[in-house]
Amino acid sequence: MATLTRLAEVPVSEIKWLGPKNSAPLVKAGITTVADLLHHVPRTYIDRSDKPRLDRVPLDTEVTIIAEIKKINTRRPKKKLSITEAVISDETASLDVIWFNQAFRQKSLPVGTEAAFSGKVTSRNGKLQMSTPVVEVLGDDEESIVTGRIVPVHPQVGSLKPWAILRAVRIALNRSRPIPDPVPAEMLTRKGLISRDQAFGDIHFPESLDRVDPARDRLVYDEFFRLELSLALQKRRQMDDATGFAHTPTAELAGRFVAGLPYELTGAQRRVLEEIDQDLREPHPMHRLLQGEVGSGKTVVAVAALLSGVEGGWQGALMAPTEVLAVQHYLGVTGLLAQAELSPEPFAAPSGLGMDSLFGSDGPAVHIGILTGGTAAANYRPDISRADLIADIASGQVDILVGTHALIQEGVEFHKLGVAVVDEQHRFGVSQRVMLKEKADAIDPDLLIMTATPIPRTLSMTLYGDLDVSIIDEMPPGRTPVETKVLSRLEEALAWKRIGEEVGAGRQAFVVCPLVEDSPKIEAASATAEHDRLSGLMPELRVGLIHGQLRPVEKEAVMSEFRAGEIDVLVATTVIEVGIDIPNATVMVIEDADRFGLSQLHQLRGRVGRGRYPGMCLLIADPATEDAEERLAAMAATNDGFVLAQEDLRIRGQGTVFGVRQSGVADLKLANILRDVDLLTAARNDAFGIVDQDPGLTNHPELAEEVRAMLGESVEWLFKS
Ligand code: ADP
Ligand code: MG
Repeated sequence: MATLTRLAEVPVSEIKWLGPKNSAPLVKAGITTVADLLHHVPRTYIDRSDKPRLDRVPLDTEVTIIAEIKKINTRRPKKKLSITEAVISDETASLDVIWFNQAFRQKSLPVGTEAAFSGKVTSRNGKLQMSTPVVEVLGDDEESIVTGRIVPVHPQVGSLKPWAILRAVRIALNRSRPIPDPVPAEMLTRKGLISRDQAFGDIHFPESLDRVDPARDRLVYDEFFRLELSLALQKRRQMDDATGFAHTPTAELAGRFVAGLPYELTGAQRRVLEEIDQDLREPHPMHRLLQGEVGSGKTVVAVAALLSGVEGGWQGALMAPTEVLAVQHYLGVTGLLAQAELSPEPFAAPSGLGMDSLFGSDGPAVHIGILTGGTAAANYRPDISRADLIADIASGQVDILVGTHALIQEGVEFHKLGVAVVDEQHRFGVSQRVMLKEKADAIDPDLLIMTATPIPRTLSMTLYGDLDVSIIDEMPPGRTPVETKVLSRLEEALAWKRIGEEVGAGRQAFVVCPLVEDSPKIEAASATAEHDRLSGLMPELRVGLIHGQLRPVEKEAVMSEFRAGEIDVLVATTVIEVGIDIPNATVMVIEDADRFGLSQLHQLRGRVGRGRYPGMCLLIADPATEDAEERLAAMAATNDGFVLAQEDLRIRGQGTVFGVRQSGVADLKLANILRDVDLLTAARNDAFGIVDQDPGLTNHPELAEEVRAMLGESVEWLFKS
């Protein structure tokens, strides 16, 4: 009897039959402990009883038969040709098998080997023959005697054959069983999950095939359960370590702001605002992820949240990933505040409507500033200097500060930072969250992270398990979906023609240049070349250029020209990926679109069709792989970011999705976050429930040990006090 925790300490080389020599390939493949080996589960199972007997094998259809090698021989009639011929038989008949240029068969299938042969059987001159079958060795002579009706086929590891692994697993299991179960029994019975011991037994050596799924379910549940436990502990830890404070939103500013908008909030926006307000009232700090499609109205919600803090005398920060975006946010928020008559004197009277006289100078006014590498400005003092702005932030004069993520890294001191909003989670990691806390004088501000990257709920549950998630799943009314078409390179003229038409109608266009990974320099150079080429192709249009090698002020200059309509076509690298809002832009052409990931394409597409006019996205690509073709087809088929994210996950697999490495998803060996959603949800509820009752897992020591043993050092800090 040995717990999984214990088995995670026993090296595979201690399995008697393996020894150090035979275990080398396993170790090399990362299967270092007995626990690892037990998670190396069969790739498939062969049911001896349902395989046709050789005397009744159907002809000319795909079949799998089980038989023994009776004779095997290889000849080389020509220099570049080898022919391996074998005779195989079961109790009923025998059959000829032939392989071309697979001379290794001679060695891997010695006489006496029992194997499953899959392929088509044909009849030639009355003789049955199977040509180039796929072979699974079931065991050598000795092994096949002990195997039962169902033969597990483990994935080969290096030079270690499936049957050898099977034998090692058998020995390991015999020595370890019964494997005790640390998961509370009532949790298991409620979901109809079998015991851990039975699960390991059945996954490797099922008595019948219908035993496999329940075994797998249990092991998958355990993987999720451990991961979710660590996330629950992490969240708990953050809460315990945090010194938050309860805001007391009065709606004095936020309510006025919302009422001043020229539209009604959508139901989803209202719901999310409630969720945020609820968090703000709690004494512990908010850690909330706000997801919503580009254009779903996250910014409006974020501003309302910031104002809820400002009402109580706190400051707010709004951080964007780039300078261009920070400027855009500043302009956007300033405009929204002005609309709601929450601006101080200099901006107070929009288009001379005499609002001043209504409110005078003693109406509420929100002071907002922007501070980035290249910009310092404020809505209450148009000519403010950088030094004065920094002083005003420190004294509390500034209510809301907009900046880049660098805000928290630079020497900016707040007077009383209460709410921080971060646009785009992607580039804002955990370490930055820690710095943010330091910025706020060891008091944790409430944190709202906005992302337009739609993450399937299952993934956000695992990736951001320590964050609460709000989703704006409803678009403001009146949006028409962006029409998307794929063009081959030969058809590119159609794209330029379309741009010409749209510009003729007073609209604007983006052309996104090919992605050059890891080399912003080369990317910039190719964008510059493309700019020159397109300027030549469309001489009557004003073609602009923006890329990552420009200085921030230069970028901002180009963007404001584009915003002002002084540029018709903006040739750009992916610097425009996030958040750019030019309502008059209606066409986006993406060159070599097959090089982009699905979520990136979707992000880019979100830049058009944001105004009154329907948008169009033209993907120029000659996809060279099936994956790329699938991605492009998915883009053309739907505008729904969640569907695309799901699709992306399916195409790329969970192992490669962004940021997954440090998230624990990489530790999932059997579990699949798309297929096993129900188990994930169950495991998550159970894990969070346990940690709620027993925050340090002191009453569940075996579980605590198992999380540490299976998830390794990355979770060690959770258990330190
Ligand atoms: P996101 O930040 O999610 O990309 P924004 O907050 O920038 O979206 O909103 C996109 C556009 O939609 C803005 O011009 C905004 O004023 C507008 N908008 C936001 N909410 C609504 C609404 N409920 N009804 C109509 N328009 C809205
Ligand atoms: Mg936005």
